[in-house]
Amino acid sequence: MERVYNFSPGPSQLPLPVLEKAQKEMLCYQDTGMSVMEMSHRSKMYTDIYDQTVATLRELMSIPDTYDVLFLQGGATQQFSAVPLNLMVHRKADYLDTGNFAHLAAEEAKRYGEVNVVASTRDEVYTYIPDLATVQFSEDADYVHITQNNTIYGTRFVELPETRAPLVCDASSMILSEKMDVTRYGAIYAGAQKNIGPSGLCLLIVRKDLLGQAMDICPKLLNWEVQSKAGSMYNTPNTWGIYLAGLTFSWLKELGGVEAIEKVNLEKAELLYGFLDESQLFKPTAQKKYRSRMNVTFVTGDAEKDAAFVKAAAAEGLVNLKGHRSVGGMRASIYNAMPMEGVQKLVAFMKKFEAENK
Ligand SMILES: *Cc1c(COP(=O)(O)O)cnc(C)c1O
Repeated sequence: MERVYNFSPGPSQLPLPVLEKAQKEMLCYQDTGMSVMEMSHRSKMYTDIYDQTVATLRELMSIPDTYDVLFLQGGATQQFSAVPLNLMVHRKADYLDTGNFAHLAAEEAKRYGEVNVVASTRDEVYTYIPDLATVQFSEDADYVHITQNNTIYGTRFVELPETRAPLVCDASSMILSEKMDVTRYGAIYAGAQKNIGPSGLCLLIVRKDLLGQAMDICPKLLNWEVQSKAGSMYNTPNTWGIYLAGLTFSWLKELGGVEAIEKVNLEKAELLYGFLDESQLFKPTAQKKYRSRMNVTFVTGDAEKDAAFVKAAAAEGLVNLKGHRSVGGMRASIYNAMPMEGVQKLVAFMKKFEAENK
């Protein structure tokens, strides 16, 4: 069977050259005589892979030496707990509730201290990002948490809040898709299965001066300082996942880095939204100003038509276009690994479907 265009929100499509390289090296990595999965994480051959992976990411994102790069387990969700456990020194934090994941992050943090939801668009089905100029941040919050791209609702922050407290960001569905000024953040975390690699892995970029403040009850494995001192290897890390992440980083670097992919991502998003704005059948659901470039959400307004479209698209090799179960409709996730041709094919198919379903 041929490979399809996979618009899944995550785990999502990986770059074909990455999969091919992994396949080639599957049984025998270079001259080691074994698969990466079979290597000791403490061996020189593996630590070389690890160091190279971190170095390539540092280069791609211009991460200063004042920040640590860690590869953790438990996905982004584990960081919903790790963030308060590591940073809530005075047991107080501000959260912006801009989507389902943002909401879950705030709910989890409440177990450890006072959480001020300083802005929420929950009542309006998260179709936009609150006006940051009107948000009242707490005087004494330990950090401010945002979800920069909202995977389910298809919205993104178009600017960052100016905050006294360190900004902590769930960047799962936008990391490496556009330029980020790392110095604006105290910590950035991202589940890998959108723009990095396989699931189960979580990238953490954290300002080093924020380490060493974890609560006594913080499990060792979730303690950023412990993981930092151990080079992400307090226990056996997700060695295969980190290796694949490294392949993705090298692929991105060869393409010209984040700046180059950001251009392609903008073109992809403009093509799709451009069509949606003209369409008589499909309607985009996120407010224009805050539209995500990674997750494009839309509806026909008729649940039966939505289902028919998703089914017909799948038959054409355009799969996983069904919207999240909480919102319905459609969602096309067009992460870094989705080529322009995938979006062009999708738009062409939508036009055809529209003509046939007036
Ligand atoms: C996918 C996603 C998550 C959840 O990631 P897991 O790896 O399943 O824990 C959290 N936040 C955002 C923004 C996501 O897109």
